[in-house]
Amino acid sequence: MKILILGGTREARDLAHLASGERGFDIVSSLAGRVRDPRLPAGAVRIGGFGGADGLREWLTGNGIDAVVDATHPFAGTMSAHAATAATALGLPLVHVRRPGWRERPGDRWIRVPDLAGAAAALGGLGERVFLTIGRQGVAAFAELSAHWFLIRAIDPPEGAVPTRHHLLLARGPFTVEQETELLAAHRVEVLVTKDSGGALTEAKLDAARAAGLPVVVVERPALPAGGAVVHTADAAWEWLRSGGQSASSAGSCSNQSMTPRS
Ligand code: NAP
Repeated sequence: MKILILGGTREARDLAHLASGERGFDIVSSLAGRVRDPRLPAGAVRIGGFGGADGLREWLTGNGIDAVVDATHPFAGTMSAHAATAATALGLPLVHVRRPGWRERPGDRWIRVPDLAGAAAALGGLGERVFLTIGRQGVAAFAELSAHWFLIRAIDPPEGAVPTRHHLLLARGPFTVEQETELLAAHRVEVLVTKDSGGALTEAKLDAARAAGLPVVVVERPALPAGGAVVHTADAAWEWLRSGGQSASSAGSCSNQSMTPRS
């Protein structure tokens, strides 16, 4: 059974670790190549785009893939859509691994917005000093906001335009609540902007913001494409693989394909 894991997340690495060396499973993980020094999963790895949904379909065929695991980040909507298109065209089983989103707790002051443009628009009146934790992509959506000062935290420097008044902090999580609390205080942050990435690795900033009484602008996730199964953890994805792609709820109206190894 040859499996492609579309990766770039903790869940993808955990799944590759679970499956590596297991009899009957031949795993290859794929990374977009965005991060200069990525955390590599166990086993075989390829890096770089496929060339759209058509390129992915050709790659899947050329490499004899039997099932696809989309374990990309919840905001990697294009890759998820390409995975659904290509897998459907070839009749391959597909599962999306989506960690649950963060949940608002008592004391939180969240403003939910549909996208980064909505986040930029929401900042007026919330505070001048902004902690921008949306990763390196998408910072350009805030570039025109000259009335605000931004603390931009990302693993690698942002691409494209950046706001005039900013401080760039290159750092990779996980972060503790204590570290986040100190950071908010040191930079006199008044408002936080985050994607609803979910997961424990970068959740501490929400605890720190709650304790400090700060508003948080939360960008909602893009919808998953129709078709394919959905699970929330690497363990559940591994169960899905071991059970032949049958044991998960579907993201849309298309039925799940079961796995039959290619001869
Ligand atoms: P995206 O907008 O959905 O994808 C853009 C293009 O990047 C895709 O069309 C594909 O190029 C290529 N790509 C994306 N993921 C790939 C993968 N795992 N393997 C090979 N090619 C991939 O995704 P993105 O937002 O740029 O995210 C890129 C990667 O960073 C993903 O692996 C994701 O898990 C990770 N990541 C994203 C975020 C985020 O907030 N978006 C945060 C943390 C990590 P082709 O069309 O040429 O195939």
